[in-house]
Amino acid sequence: MPMIKPASKPDLQHISDAVFDKSGLEVFVLRLDLIHPGISGNKWYKLKYNLKEAIVQGFDTILTYGGAYSNHIHAAAIAASEYKIKSIGIIRGEKVEPLNPTLQDAQDYGMELHFISRSDYRHKNEEHFVNELKERFGNFYLVPEGGTNSYAIKGASEILDEIDIAFDWIITAAGTGGTISGIISRLDGAHNILGVPILKGGFLKEEVESLLFNYSGKGYTNWQMNDDYHFGGYAKFNSELIDFINDFKGSHKIPLDPVYTGKMFYALYDLSRQGHFPKGSKIVAVHTGGLQGIRGFNDRFGNLIH
Ligand SMILES: *Cc1c(COP(=O)(O)O)cnc(C)c1O
Repeated sequence: MPMIKPASKPDLQHISDAVFDKSGLEVFVLRLDLIHPGISGNKWYKLKYNLKEAIVQGFDTILTYGGAYSNHIHAAAIAASEYKIKSIGIIRGEKVEPLNPTLQDAQDYGMELHFISRSDYRHKNEEHFVNELKERFGNFYLVPEGGTNSYAIKGASEILDEIDIAFDWIITAAGTGGTISGIISRLDGAHNILGVPILKGGFLKEEVESLLFNYSGKGYTNWQMNDDYHFGGYAKFNSELIDFINDFKGSHKIPLDPVYTGKMFYALYDLSRQGHFPKGSKIVAVHTGGLQGIRGFNDRFGNLIH
């Protein structure tokens, strides 16, 4: 079996800030954004066992879905090229040329891109739709949108393996909930986990409960979701968020993306000020990556992120 280049061990960086000092907190950043030159952050963990499984099952192609700026599509293209397996990306919406940086990278790594309408995209999980894709493209191993399934949760459960300090809290951004499910399951009831959903709607708590139950048959009470920091929904933002991201990079030399990690760190600061975390807590904030998306964001909105 071709071996995927192992990602390097993520750095754990201490960050000092008056906000944390005042609240008596110690904060560390787990830099998943640095584990691999191309595949940023949590998507590496989520894809790892899916690609291994595809190869074990004898597939030579994976197919997956995503939006035009998707970190998952970007990571899937690179991971597939490292595994020497073909990849097909079904992209929501019309093709716009020239391709944006996310899709251009994906194509350069060999992903075959197909664009489908938003209305067709809604049927992506239906059997007849998948069968039509198989008629068109031949057989493939299907990786769901956002990459979340039990192989992804298994991969995400390894995110904390390299942490060698004692900690009380883990905080992470949550989209489909696969990453946080892996973290919760690995901690198996220990410590506290706080998820910051970046989608509006408040549905993620239930979704993660069901992901966890399907994965391990267990339920846990040592985690929570805080729905106050989506900034209006997926990829929505305001100037306060943008200023925060730019200031944070200025102070700590750590870049954040506007869709996931910017919102999570904003939540961490805000909740720290509000006294959400007991004095003396050690917090590990998971930097889940997503930095590739900054280019497309700046192209669209005018170089807001420095
Ligand atoms: C996809 C993604 C997430 C969300 O991960 P889920 O497993 O879908 O919850 C968080 N941060 C970044 C940077 C991502 O790309």
